[in-house]
Amino acid sequence: MENHHAMSDTTPALRHIKIFDTTLRDGEQSPGCSMNLQEKLEMAQALVDLGVDILEAGFPIASPGDFDAVREIATTMRGATICGLARCNDADIDRAWEALKGSPQPRIHVFLATSAIHREFKLKMTREEIIARAVAGVKRAVGYCDDIEFSPEDAARTERDFLCQVVEAAIAAGATTVNIPDTVGYTTPQEYGETIALLKNRVPNIDRATISTHCHNDLGLAVANSLAAVENGAGQIECTINGIGERAGNCSLEEVVMALKTRQDHYHCGTSIVTPRLVPTSRLLTSITGQQVQRNKAIVGRNAFAHEAGIHQDGMLKERRTYEIMRPEDVGFQATDLVLGKHSGRAALADRAKALGYTLTGEQLQGVFDQFKLLADKKKEIYDGDIIALIELALHGTGQQAEWQLAGFEVTSGSGMKPRAKLTLRRGSEETSAEVSDGDGPIDAAFLATEKITGIKLRCIDYQVRSATLGHDALGEVNLSVEHGGQTFRGRGVSTDTVEATVQAILSAANRIAGTKETGARG
Ligand code: MN
Repeated sequence: MENHHAMSDTTPALRHIKIFDTTLRDGEQSPGCSMNLQEKLEMAQALVDLGVDILEAGFPIASPGDFDAVREIATTMRGATICGLARCNDADIDRAWEALKGSPQPRIHVFLATSAIHREFKLKMTREEIIARAVAGVKRAVGYCDDIEFSPEDAARTERDFLCQVVEAAIAAGATTVNIPDTVGYTTPQEYGETIALLKNRVPNIDRATISTHCHNDLGLAVANSLAAVENGAGQIECTINGIGERAGNCSLEEVVMALKTRQDHYHCGTSIVTPRLVPTSRLLTSITGQQVQRNKAIVGRNAFAHEAGIHQDGMLKERRTYEIMRPEDVGFQATDLVLGKHSGRAALADRAKALGYTLTGEQLQGVFDQFKLLADKKKEIYDGDIIALIELALHGTGQQAEWQLAGFEVTSGSGMKPRAKLTLRRGSEETSAEVSDGDGPIDAAFLATEKITGIKLRCIDYQVRSATLGHDALGEVNLSVEHGGQTFRGRGVSTDTVEATVQAILSAANRIAGTKETGARG
């Protein structure tokens, strides 16, 4: 196979750009993206395998759950720096260190807002007080470890002279990374690039620290702004998988990494990201959170490498490079959509799972294989999308210890009739049925029937159906979120019958709620 981007032997050494992933901190705090401890650990392992340099695992003082996640990740993950966030005060910094100390490569990330609007309205502090507080915070963190990052929050809207003073003071106090956040996604590539160049030129001790970017995507400029900063001397990019994060999200890791790689001729920079892991990592996040990326999302979207126009297809057949600047396999898409069927064995399925980026235990593989066989009886050709849906259901579906199992269901709806749902659930050896005929629709009736049997209140806040592959016999995948007792729980179901997938998803959410109740009693 030809090499698209052959570099000559005389290529100068590439400048290494550190990838700082904040999927588990900035990303996780955005609506619909919260994860439990198990999910965070799984995501953290995937990020380490992806090759991120620094993994921001959470904000330890924010909640006991955050603390536990950072501590677990710091204790178990090797091969990346593990970072914890702290506001600029002793309690936050001490708590962050408590969580991080099990890591051989810990980093404390201290932040304090510096812009006029934050100083005046949020902090009610003068410039002098801000500098004194920043220095005190960095010094306290330096007492615990050598790797300290300081972020002047809302740096992009901070007066440049004052920003230079704060950065100089933070470095003098011991900060080894200075992050320049565009907290509100307001800056433009040229303006942000100038700010980085100014820091590089004007702050006398700047060579003792790495300049970092943290860009939000409110104007769709997060990736462009991060790249402009790199061109002006930044050595670290903060980003998230699928670009998740506060509001419109953060700089997307997969986009910024592939921009640097594809345009190495322009940026002369490299990262340690194993790019064929990008799509599997993106899928893992989607599967954990149930938040799909849009089809036309750069790099990881379903259409990112789809060529529809006839003239493009003609060009592609003659020479891929006519319309393709990256090869799908370089980001982890499979070049072929191999079809499996009824006669495919377990080895073929295992092969396919591996090629799609999944590592399954023997027991998981057997579970997926059983479902695969059932599906093969209903559907002649089984595509990658079907296999992914089955694997993800096995990995992130109901969970093994589901309290309630679906024994049977019947749903009717039609013009001019009342929707009705009859549901039978099994718990241990006991079966309970409920029939509801006053819902707004069949889905509502299925929710009501589940509530009636389990006694668990379910308020649906999100409901999504998508087909796993093309064709009217495709697997339907349902992802939903319910609110219960102030917390959000996700549910997932997969079936060729969309109503059945919905019932499974409702039940899996109910089971997750039941699983969190210590006594297992009905709530
Ligand atoms: Mn942020």
